[in-house]
Order: sequence, then C-alpha cells, then structure tokens
Amino acid sequence: MEKVKTRPDHPPNHPLDALLRTDRIPHIWCPGCGIGTAFSSCMVAMQASGIDLNKTVMVSGIGCSGRGAGYTRLDSYHTTHGRAIPFATGMKLANPELNVVVFSGDGDLFAIGGNHFIHAARRNMDITVICVNNLIYGMTGGQAAATTPCMAKTTTTPRGNPDTPFSLPLLAFAAGATYVARWTILHTRDLTKSIEEALNRRGFSFIEVLAPCPTGYGRKNKEKSLDTLKIYQERTIIKNGAHPMDAVMDFGNSITLGKFIDQDRPTFSDRYDKICRPPIA
Ligand code: SF4
Repeated sequence: MEKVKTRPDHPPNHPLDALLRTDRIPHIWCPGCGIGTAFSSCMVAMQASGIDLNKTVMVSGIGCSGRGAGYTRLDSYHTTHGRAIPFATGMKLANPELNVVVFSGDGDLFAIGGNHFIHAARRNMDITVICVNNLIYGMTGGQAAATTPCMAKTTTTPRGNPDTPFSLPLLAFAAGATYVARWTILHTRDLTKSIEEALNRRGFSFIEVLAPCPTGYGRKNKEKSLDTLKIYQERTIIKNGAHPMDAVMDFGNSITLGKFIDQDRPTFSDRYDKICRPPIA
C-alpha cells in the first residue's frame, strides 16, 4: 500500500487511516445514511482478517454504495453500473492470488447486475460480495429496485410497489454461494466478524447488510433514519444456521439475521485447473 496521505486538517490518528484515502473525505453519503457504517465494518474486518492487503482489491459498481471503492487505500475499481461482479471475476481469473472484494448496493448488484450475481455464485468464483441493501436505487433518483418491499413508495411506484422483492440470502444460496449471511448496520460486531470470516473462505461468499436510506427511501415512506434503526432493533431475530428459505424479511413483522450458509465446494479455478493442467498435448 502507498504511504498514508492525510488532509492537513485531519491528522493521522484514526485506526483506519492506513486503509482510507482520507484526502477524499468528507464522503458523499447523506446524514443518517447507513453505508458509512457498513463500509467501516468492512475496513475493520479487512484489517483484522490477516489477509495480505497488498494483494487485496476492492471493486464497486455505480450508486451510493459504489462510492466505497473510491475511499479505500487498497487498489480499487469503480466500474460501470451492474458490472462490479464480472469485473471482479476477470481480476480473479487473471491473478488468482488476489483477494477480490466487491462492495456495492442492491440496485447495482441485484437489478441491473442480477444476472452476473447468480452466475458468479453458480460458478463458485472465489470472491467476497458485500451488498448494502437500502431497499431502493438511492443515487439514481429513488426508483424501485429488485429489493423494494411490496407496497413501498418510490419515485417510480408513487402509489406503492406492486412487486415482490428478492430474498437475497435465498437467491445467493439457490445460485450456489458457499457463505451466506445477513446483518444490519446495528449489528456491527456480527457484521464485522462475518466479513472477516468471508474474507478467509474460499468460494463465493455473500453478505447482505441492511442499511437505511433516509433520503431516497425514507422520505417517500415517512421513515427517518432513526425509525429504520428502531425497526432493526425491535423486529430482528438472529438465527445462525437457519435455512435461507426460513430467513424472512418482513419489515412490518420480523427480519431474520445470521450466518445461514458456510460450506465448502470446489471453486471455478479448482475445476478449471484440473481440466487445463497439464496442457492438452
Ligand atoms: Fe445514503 Fe440514500 Fe443518501 Fe444514497 S441517497 S447517500 S443511500 S441516504
């Protein structure tokens, strides 16, 4: 990693300074947004994980969460909308020694990039995907996403969303992910531990982080950031080991959190190496 550069008015005294491009701070995230907490957990987990940070890259797509890659002092890539996973896949295949981390939002990873997600999980690409799920397209104007709850109001569904949202842990499991967890930004210790574990697992690991978007989602649904945090506090139940089929997410009732899947299966590179080495005569 390059030498830490800090803003003159920001002395290097924060534990994460070595991992942050402090000259890019203040960040763009709105007051009350949950992305900063998710990002901070990710940085803490990276420091604690013991992985070689000189061989670690972060890839983001477009959107508010997609700005994360720009704030870390790792080699990082801010890619086009929905394409963080194919970009990450290419990096891993080109240099299998890299630890490849995707940090992006639900709009980017599960709507425009949804197809890439399922195929990377199916292939068991050895990458870690952290999805900040704030139930909406934030930066692009508060449109309904593939994760927006049924009947929630957005700029594209002003009378209420008629669609049923994806259950992200269930989708990840069904597609073949080998590590699957869901936390909220109120559960930072569990979240950090999960990211740390995922970084040290081989295979496609996926962590969903529920986080408030008071600007895009909250205004339309009369839900301030604190209201969302109250829902996380009062309606979440931790069930480690629960089957993803049972990981409900009903904001009016209960939300299941935990580490749901942690299993081994050969990665894409394992199988590819078996097929291609030794080279065909
Ligand atoms: Fe966060 Fe929403 Fe603001 Fe984006 S629009 S920074 S997700 S609060």
